[in-house]
Amino acid sequence: MQPTSTDKTSSFSGLALDEQLLSAVKKMGFEQPTPVQQKSIPLAMEHKDLLVSAETGSGKTAAFLLPTLHHLLTLPSKNSGTRALVLTPTRELAQQIFKHCQQLTEFTELKTGLITGGDDFRLQQNMLRKNTEIVIATPGRVLELMEQEIPNFSNLEVLILDEADRMLDMGFSEDVLAIANSCNEQRQTLLFSATLTHFGVIKMADKVLTNHEAIALNTLHDGHRNIEQQIVLADDNDHKLKLLTWLLQNETYDKALVFTNSRIQADALRGPLRGQKLRVGVLHGEMDQKDRNRMMELFRDGEVNVMLATDLAARGLDIKGINLVINFDVPRNGINYIHRIGRTGRIDELGLTIALVKHTEWNLMSGIERFLKQKFKHRNIKELAGKYKGPKKLKASGKATGGKNKIEPKKAAVEKVKIRDRDKKNVGKRRVPTVKPDIEINQT
Ligand code: AMP
Repeated sequence: MQPTSTDKTSSFSGLALDEQLLSAVKKMGFEQPTPVQQKSIPLAMEHKDLLVSAETGSGKTAAFLLPTLHHLLTLPSKNSGTRALVLTPTRELAQQIFKHCQQLTEFTELKTGLITGGDDFRLQQNMLRKNTEIVIATPGRVLELMEQEIPNFSNLEVLILDEADRMLDMGFSEDVLAIANSCNEQRQTLLFSATLTHFGVIKMADKVLTNHEAIALNTLHDGHRNIEQQIVLADDNDHKLKLLTWLLQNETYDKALVFTNSRIQADALRGPLRGQKLRVGVLHGEMDQKDRNRMMELFRDGEVNVMLATDLAARGLDIKGINLVINFDVPRNGINYIHRIGRTGRIDELGLTIALVKHTEWNLMSGIERFLKQKFKHRNIKELAGKYKGPKKLKASGKATGGKNKIEPKKAAVEKVKIRDRDKKNVGKRRVPTVKPDIEINQT
């Protein structure tokens, strides 16, 4: 019997990747392609432009690196400068992709370079002069180098925009476009984003992709099956600190990430938690790069097992063993919530995430639940029971105690329509995206 295309994509060898890559994948212990790899790799190997939505932790890095590396190996080209460029929002994420790429290219001659702010400018210039085939970079530093006319992307064969939604949220839109415009027009472009309903992403896709295919595997509403999501109500920040300390002392976890909405809050929690003999680190954008790297290493090695972080750390960070994520502050929107909780419950791991919610945050949290079309479990910590039990109306109907509450249908529907309208408006402007019929399109 002829194998179906699904059969072919269910193994790495079926994807017909270069043997050297198959050896690397084997060494890395990947037994089977993940869904995003199954869908993206065959299309990318046809050198098509792709617009892909995939959750963090879904295996998306290999989904764009493997076909790109396969292409570079299949069509060798000497002294052509940078052949593939990956743009990604943060330095940490760039470092992570760089490591991933080094592992995947272990059995090849391909050279990978890293270009991020905070590292030596001259070394990076030299590296670019040496025909490093694959460059992983953050947009700001690439632009700085471009001002010195060093990087030459005129022969670029593949441009990858990773976590495009995040890059746009961080204000990199113009930088990304300037870089994309300086690249060879014939290149292939792969755009990965956590969501396809982001207005900026739709606009960006329109500008940088040509006749692309869209693949939407994640749905923001699929419940993150391997993550248990809980809410603990709190009276105020002092109460939150007690709850946080209790949770960190009583939950079972290898590593815990605690998110705050501000760097000041993250710094403020460090002292009291250390006072409780917890091994705590802090990671936020105002630390210099050296300190950030050191913190990441300590966390990776487990010397520090509780990390206080702002949203900077929320995207893309892939550290094994994070099985507890606590939102000390409720994130400002649903997308940030997804990215925060996405740090746990990665492939084959189970995770628990707990949001500490005080009265001023109730509406925000409810909005996130509505956005995600989920209701999280309310948990009471007997030892630290507070006064706040949720809004009065809900208390009366018993809704705040959580469990099986349904989402208010009207509100959920309104949100759906709002986002769809916005999408429709922009989808109309795109250059004929082809949507694979067997692939679920982002229904948000
Ligand atoms: P990513 O979504 O690219 O950040 O990947 C999340 C984690 O999944 C990383 O630790 C990868 O090494 C791992 N991973 C990627 N592809 C596979 C696979 N096919 N099988 C098992 N683990 C994988």
